Amino acid sequence: MGQKISIYNSLTGEKEILTPRNNQFVGMYVCGPTLYSEPHMGNMRTFINFDLVYRYLLHAGYKVKYVRNITDAGHITNSAGQEEDSIGKAARLEQLQSLEIVYKYNVKFQELQRLYNMLPPSVEPTATGHIQEQIEIIEKILENGYGYTVNGSVYFDTKRYMQDFNYGILSGRKVEELENETRSLNNQDEKRFFADFALWKKANPEDMQIWRSPWGDGNPGWHIECTAMSTKYLGKQFDIHGGGMDLKFPHHEDEIAQSYGSFGCQPASIWMHANMLNVNGQKMSKSLGNFFLPQEIVEGTSPLFKKPYSPNVIRFFMMQAHYRSTLDITETGLDAAEKGLSRMMEGLKLVERLLPSVSTSFKWKELIDSFDEAMQDDFNAPILIANLFEAVRYINLINDGKETISSDHLRILKTAIHVFIYHVLGLTAEGPGQDKRLQPVMDLVLDLRSQAREKKDWATSDKIRDGLAAAGIFVKDGKEGTDWS
Ligand code: AMP
Ligand code: ZN
Repeated sequence: MGQKISIYNSLTGEKEILTPRNNQFVGMYVCGPTLYSEPHMGNMRTFINFDLVYRYLLHAGYKVKYVRNITDAGHITNSAGQEEDSIGKAARLEQLQSLEIVYKYNVKFQELQRLYNMLPPSVEPTATGHIQEQIEIIEKILENGYGYTVNGSVYFDTKRYMQDFNYGILSGRKVEELENETRSLNNQDEKRFFADFALWKKANPEDMQIWRSPWGDGNPGWHIECTAMSTKYLGKQFDIHGGGMDLKFPHHEDEIAQSYGSFGCQPASIWMHANMLNVNGQKMSKSLGNFFLPQEIVEGTSPLFKKPYSPNVIRFFMMQAHYRSTLDITETGLDAAEKGLSRMMEGLKLVERLLPSVSTSFKWKELIDSFDEAMQDDFNAPILIANLFEAVRYINLINDGKETISSDHLRILKTAIHVFIYHVLGLTAEGPGQDKRLQPVMDLVLDLRSQAREKKDWATSDKIRDGLAAAGIFVKDGKEGTDWS
């Protein structure tokens, strides 16, 4: 391996060298989306950040098992501290069945992953596919005395747990402080203590998804899903557990409690938390209503932005911020990213045309090492990008005859730049905006579409638009004609 990757561990508050439990194999679990609606740009930032982590671990030579679940059932704690079945709620609103809702938004989510050039995880297990595993862990927690049943529901007994373990080990939250924060909770009366949380909920008459359990018909709590799926695919203890910062408490704290409560051990060696995408300094969120959809920004239909930005530009924009920093999404920021990306891609094109000389005059080795050094320091993509720009500066100097490079070194430099831009940062070959090679084809297709529109043949015109969208090409009709990206 030869590479030492240092990662900020939220559990200890320190950067630690990644030492996989099993040599070159790394097990990584990341909490996936709750598919009751289309993932917004904020959700995508977290998944893109972990895509970067995954890509760099692969680049460093690790064999990574990357597990990212899909939450398609369960009671989630909402912003008011209440546990609700958000998928069931959306299903009732849209007059669909729960799994139809999940399927519909999962199709979208998979499309978005391709659009943003994210590598598929090794496995994407669903909560509904792992009910039995959840029941088994709940049984263990009960056997060990860390849970209790009330009226067909099962709760985690936090007070009992605190006699043996440290509740708050990850988030640093003190139960006394929590008590003041907690408002009147749903089914509060069933819980013995306000910090207890549901492992299993008795079915309600309106529930669309119900499973049999030793405690009667019902459905699982949210936290238990992740414990069941991480254990099944990665074992009781694995290397990295990730998710957005907002999941640290209560979700991850409760996952840890469930692992100690059932198996007596800490599930992950390193806990990683990715920071939020903000709008005007506020976290982008569904409940605040300040969100926009990844597709809107690519299509240019978001009222917040005057023009569309390609997924490549958005990805580059995100990579320019460290994953542990918040990032405000603004038009100025995206415009700057568009310029920056095109400057970097120009450098990449130029390096293809450079002519070598007999010897090298600049310190190419240090420069190339700096790419890895940046990523080995807690996946510091902004520093990596700065170092790539430094390489672009040298490429221009060589091109202007002010520096020289030998053919061997040129080959190494080319490969390194290529690998870091495409494979590590996950940027794609086509420049920002449009791929010009497609222009003649697009001229023809858009011409056919406008002929259909003139004849008011909306079915054909919509078919063309939707077919293009499925291929990742978005058309926008404006005063000066139809634009595409
Ligand atoms: P959810 O579907 O709500 O469970 O969220 C899926 C993932 O997106 C979780 O890891 C959240 O922490 C993350 N997330 C939610 N909002 C944001 C945001 N504004 N910026 C970054 N990540 C977010
Ligand atoms: Zn989770």
